[in-house]
Amino acid sequence: MKRLMIAANWKMNKTVAEAAAYIKDLGPRLAGWDRVEVVICPPFTCLAYLSDALKHTELQLGAQNLFWEPKGAFTGEISAEMLLDMGCRYVIIGHSERRQMMGESDQDINRKLGSAGGAGLIPIFCVGETLPEREDSQTRNVVQRQLEQGLAGLDLQELVIAYEPVWAIGTGLNASPADAQDTCKYIRDCLGRHRDESWAAAVPILYGGSVTALNIQSFVEQPDINGALVGGASLDPEHFARIVRLNMDA
Ligand code: PEP
Repeated sequence: MKRLMIAANWKMNKTVAEAAAYIKDLGPRLAGWDRVEVVICPPFTCLAYLSDALKHTELQLGAQNLFWEPKGAFTGEISAEMLLDMGCRYVIIGHSERRQMMGESDQDINRKLGSAGGAGLIPIFCVGETLPEREDSQTRNVVQRQLEQGLAGLDLQELVIAYEPVWAIGTGLNASPADAQDTCKYIRDCLGRHRDESWAAAVPILYGGSVTALNIQSFVEQPDINGALVGGASLDPEHFARIVRLNMDA
């Protein structure tokens, strides 16, 4: 049975007190369930608290962004080294909200991936097409470009890809499991060409876009989907636990 990863992207949600209540609620709900590696990606302001609170649990900590320089005059930015210092193992890079709202380019994302990998963080590298791109049958071209430009010149040992069709994020719409599988298989083929097939076979590829307890199973049973990146439905510990448990005891 393949081991799965489910990552919670809290986005700009939760104070430290809310994070504390969440973890207290989530912990017992996941007791004894080891089929899934769970990663919590809170806002920066919760990292210090969660780094301590998760220390004696199986839950991993991730950040939602970083800046590529190690230190210096970059007001408001956070480096890979700072995230490591906070106990992060993962960092989300290239989320569509950052591409669209903060104008992150494939070149910016390439620098961020290099900086994360160089520091020993595992990037959760997000790729995916917009609705007009999908309607124009550009899905494969878009993810191929994002992968090629994002990974250009890098030799990352550890990497997670999140395939997130932009039109499915926070909308309640999903790619069909068969369409998601098709694109995730294509992503794996691109990764094989980037480096080699055995490396590509070991890269976890997550699906993201309105995942809930009701649809998680249909995605993770696809051969090239190794889990999910979950936004909105990760904010409620009861619902998130049902996703992590693949809704089996729901
Ligand atoms: C996300 O933001 O990465 C995401 C997948 O969000 P949602 O689950 O809310 O669609």
